[in-house]
Formats: sequence, structure tokens, C-alpha cells
Amino acid sequence: MRRTRYTSVLSVDPELQKWMREIRRQIHNNPELSFQEHETAAFIQKKLAEIDIESIGSIAKTGVVATLSNNTAEGQTVALRADMDALPISEETGLPYCSKNPGVMHACGHDGHVAMLLGAAALLRTQSFPGTIKLLFQPAEEYGNGAMHMVAADVLENVEAIFAGHIDTHIPVGTMTVDEGIVCAWADPFHISLRGRSGHAARPHEAVDTVVAAANLVLSAQTLISRGVDPNRSAVVSIGHVQAGTAQNIIAQNALLRGTVRSTHEQTRKNTLEGLNRVVESIGLMHGVETDLDFHNCIPAVENDPIAAVIARNAAEEIEVVTSVISQGAPSLGAEDFAFYQKKVPGCMVRFGAALEREGIGVSHSGRFDFNEEVLSVGASWYANVAMQWLRKNTSGLER
Ligand SMILES: [Zn+2]
Ligand SMILES: [Zn+2]
Repeated sequence: MRRTRYTSVLSVDPELQKWMREIRRQIHNNPELSFQEHETAAFIQKKLAEIDIESIGSIAKTGVVATLSNNTAEGQTVALRADMDALPISEETGLPYCSKNPGVMHACGHDGHVAMLLGAAALLRTQSFPGTIKLLFQPAEEYGNGAMHMVAADVLENVEAIFAGHIDTHIPVGTMTVDEGIVCAWADPFHISLRGRSGHAARPHEAVDTVVAAANLVLSAQTLISRGVDPNRSAVVSIGHVQAGTAQNIIAQNALLRGTVRSTHEQTRKNTLEGLNRVVESIGLMHGVETDLDFHNCIPAVENDPIAAVIARNAAEEIEVVTSVISQGAPSLGAEDFAFYQKKVPGCMVRFGAALEREGIGVSHSGRFDFNEEVLSVGASWYANVAMQWLRKNTSGLER
């Protein structure tokens, strides 16, 4: 039987690279926070219309979805995801296209991800392929678990697999990381409230001091890692916010601690969360304070499907501008809400090297963040090729 032949490798020409660079800069110039990406969404829809692709907006509040189809019922559906939100950070780069919105900045590279996925759309729209490709422009990756809301809006209906990538300024342009298994940690954010009894600072015996209890708790929580976790299985407990009391001569009645547990193994996670519960209860008993520990907005680990990872690696290796495909090594202790899609369908998340030569630039989530825009070609080519490869895999008999 004769099989349809499809274009083998899609690559970006200078004109498309320029188009993506302008998109990236426009979005960088106009950053919007999680679930407030109204102008970004409108801009994405405008750019899709420019290349004759219809899209639907207001998905999961500010998300955009576009579908590229072979106009037959045949084949599978594969989804590609880009996130589109910025961070509450003041930009210090001095770039000509730096943020116009005070206190808001694209400091994680999501402006680049949008440009890449639009670039992939431009590459794919002229191709014939055996199936359907869904483009997901997702809001609120940083705050709000936008992916979870996209899933709730049924964007994965009929989708067989999903792929995404993230810019990484620790590795050079042309290098990509692809791994199977866990690549990003579980994140379990928590609040701990402590309630004691206020009194005069000079007469502590008449009061119940939450500051001393909170201080003890902060230190004790660290022993969960140093004494409770296999040193070869990373986990972190970080308390980033401490608030207590009202004045220097009043014993604090209330204290609030906010932090996060990160872990890269299921058992380690279970032990650490149980341990934190134990520590909080014990400190409460020890100091005679009421305690309350509350976990919320937990994000599962990003766990790459083995077959999706093979396809992701093959797609990376066939791209001319990709010179090296490596493993990221140990899982990152960072979290990514891409995990919510993977709870529903197999998927793979990769990293695109985007290091800049300039000193001190490239620390993500900082006001000095920037990345090498050459990565836009890498990302667009990979997104387009990985979708084609997934669909072709299913027509060439490589079944799951
Ligand atoms: Zn981020
Ligand atoms: Zn990010």
C-alpha cells in the first residue's frame, strides 16, 4: 500500500524568525499577570488570523485555542501548549522593548513561548498531516494553575498526547533537554497559623508567645529534610513569609508562616508532608499555641511519558538548529502546571537552551531576566515537528 508522504522536517526561515521576534517583543512590552492576559490573548488571536487560522478566546478566562485539522475524521489529535502570563516584578533590563506596565514583567520567558507556538502555527498551516493539531495558549501558569482550568474547559477532548517546552537560560541555544519520567517537582504550598495569647513583653509568663513557637517551627521544619529524606532523593521545605505581632513590647498573639514543600519522589513527598503535620502539632503542644496547617493549590510532578519522550527526542534531533539533545540530569525542584494535562493524557515537556553571553542576565524570575531570541526558531521548529511526528507515528504502525 502506498503511504502519503509528508514533509520531513519543518524549519524556520529568517522572515518567520523576524515575525516571531516582533511578537515576542510586543508581548514583552505589554506583560499581563495571571488571568489578566486580555490584551495578550487578543494579540494572539490577531496574529493567528494574520496567518488564516481561526481561534477561540476566553477559554479558562483568558486562554486561546486554535485547531489545525486535515478536514477528515481520520487520525489522532495532538496538543501543543504555550503559557502566556507575566510576573509581578519590576523590569531592570533597560531593553528598548522593556515592560510598559510598572511592576509587571515577562521574567520567565512565556513571551517567547507564545511567539514559538505562533511560529509553529505558521509552519504547520501549509502542511498536510494525518490528524488534528490543537494549539493551547494557556493563562496563569505562574499563579492560579491555569492548566487545571484549561483541562476543566475540556481542551483535552479527543487529545491523545500533549507537548510543551520551556526556555532555559542555563544552557546554550541549540541545546535541548528531553527526559522521560519526572522532570519537575511536586509543589505543595502551605499556610501555618499559630494562635497564642498576647501580653506585656515584660511578663511572658502571663502570655503565650507565638513568635518563639514560630521560630522553633521554622528551624524544626528543616530537620524534615536533613534527617527525614533520603539524600539521593531531593526535597525542600522553604518558608518564605513570616508575619507576627504588632509592636516591640507586646507578646504576639498571632503568627502566620507561608511556605512550600517541593519533592521529586512520591514517597519522599508523603513523608515530608506527614512530617510537617507532625512538627506543627508538636510545636503547638510544646508551646501551648493553637496551630493550623493548610495545604492549597498543590501542583503534581511533571512526569514525561516514555513514548512521548521518544517522539520529543526524535523531533529535537531532526531539527537542523538543534546541535545537542541532552538530559537535564536530576529533576528540577521547580513546579510546572503542565502536570495537570499529564494527569489526563500522556505528554512530554522539554527545555530549550537560551543562554545569553551577557554577565548577570538570565536569572529567571528576576528583573534582569532576558534570553537569546535565537531560541524562537528552535522552539517553533520543535513544536511543529513533534506534532507531525506524533501523528505520523500513529499512521506508521508504532502503536502505544
Ligand atoms: Zn516562572
Ligand atoms: Zn515559566
